[in-house]
Amino acid sequence: MQYVSTRGRAPVLSFEEAMLTGLARDGGLYVPAEIPQMSHGDIAALAGLSYEEIAFRVMRPFVGDTFSDDEFGGLIEAAYAGFGHAARAPLKQVQSNHFLLELFHGPTLAFKDFAMQLIGQMFQAALTRRGDRVTIVGATSGDTGSAAMEAFRGLDAVDVFILFPHGRVSDVQRRQMTTVTEANTHALALTGDFDDCQARLKDMFNHFDFRDRVRLAGVNSINWARVLAQVVYFFSSAVSLGAPHRPVSFCVPTGNFGDIFAGYIAKRMGLPIDKLVIATNQNDILHRAMVSGGYVTEGVTPSISPSMDIQVSSNFERALFEAYDRDGAAVAQLMDELKDGGGFKISQGAIGRLRETFASGRASENETSAMIARALPEMGELLCPHSAVGVHVAQDFLGATPLVTLATAHPAKFPDAVEAASGIRPALPARMGDLFDRPERVQRVENDLAALEKVIEGGIRP
Ligand SMILES: *Cc1c(COP(=O)(O)O)cnc(C)c1O
Repeated sequence: MQYVSTRGRAPVLSFEEAMLTGLARDGGLYVPAEIPQMSHGDIAALAGLSYEEIAFRVMRPFVGDTFSDDEFGGLIEAAYAGFGHAARAPLKQVQSNHFLLELFHGPTLAFKDFAMQLIGQMFQAALTRRGDRVTIVGATSGDTGSAAMEAFRGLDAVDVFILFPHGRVSDVQRRQMTTVTEANTHALALTGDFDDCQARLKDMFNHFDFRDRVRLAGVNSINWARVLAQVVYFFSSAVSLGAPHRPVSFCVPTGNFGDIFAGYIAKRMGLPIDKLVIATNQNDILHRAMVSGGYVTEGVTPSISPSMDIQVSSNFERALFEAYDRDGAAVAQLMDELKDGGGFKISQGAIGRLRETFASGRASENETSAMIARALPEMGELLCPHSAVGVHVAQDFLGATPLVTLATAHPAKFPDAVEAASGIRPALPARMGDLFDRPERVQRVENDLAALEKVIEGGIRP
């Protein structure tokens, strides 16, 4: 299986190389050269299998010869062994024909663990075999960072640096990053917002001298392996609701468009998904783009669902690449317009194609809080604010087709917002009950590329 860049001007890579690289050298994102197909029979045969077995069958064709069957199966087992629920991604009915997919039973209580735990295993296996080391730098709006540090802590082959926007992540999110004790992990609090963190990360990848010197690797949702790991739970949940014999729709709380793009891949592989609903908070660039056809940045307004406080939605580039019939030059042109002018207009044909697959909606801050308050008595679920955005938007799409809303984080990751809305302060699971007693280790950094690169080079273990 080969991987090509969405901007069409970077080398074609294997799965292993695409995983270890992250961002393509032309600024684009890697996608598989062709999308493997699962037949009706292949999908029907997933019924009754464990999450790990489904994961193996869904992901195997994308991995090529990077891992043998046995090795890949072992990495999947190891990745999900630490989850706090035997089903890994349990499905819970909350309304008539409406189901919640609980993706928060991993070690850091958000769906990011599904991909990150597996990536940790895959990086270690591939790097050990190559006798190689990398420096992972990640930007986080809160959950990617803790998931990455948890997945990579203590690994010899990897030094990890996580940039997060100072003062804009929840206390639990921050502490999950700043209390990791292993010497190969570094939490960096950047003066700025998440888009600044993401922009500096992209700058580092485009600074080839630095990139090659530190052997920079990325694990943000721009990394194809992240998207791939998330494809699995679209299959596992759809199959338990009757796919491939009947279609299923999904409503996905969205920021960087990673999770919902995984749903798109599942659909393209053959899973009968009817609608993929983009659910945004008040930072609704994706919803506005779907409605108007214009992708126009407006700046970020902090919300109670901070992991979706974003205006430059990286993975949307992958959806555009498909909507433009894989025309890398056209995508590169749009991305130049975005960089120079803060936005672009999606062509008539491309927006039409996007609207065939994706619907969209938004939840204001009040609507999000109101849904948290309502969901506990009416649905028996204490929702995190991100999941509440999804459940709010889902209300407009309930009907004859089963709808699955992704519950992306545990409410205890966002206790202040959940308590303000519902009057109930969600408790952390017992295994992380002492989070607020552990000492914090964090470095403040300015929103400046040269300064950042210096901090990172200074922190790499010899
Ligand atoms: C990352 C995150 C999201 C947004 O996911 P994307 O893949 O970036 O769209 C939503 N909810 C939570 C809790 C997250 O951590």
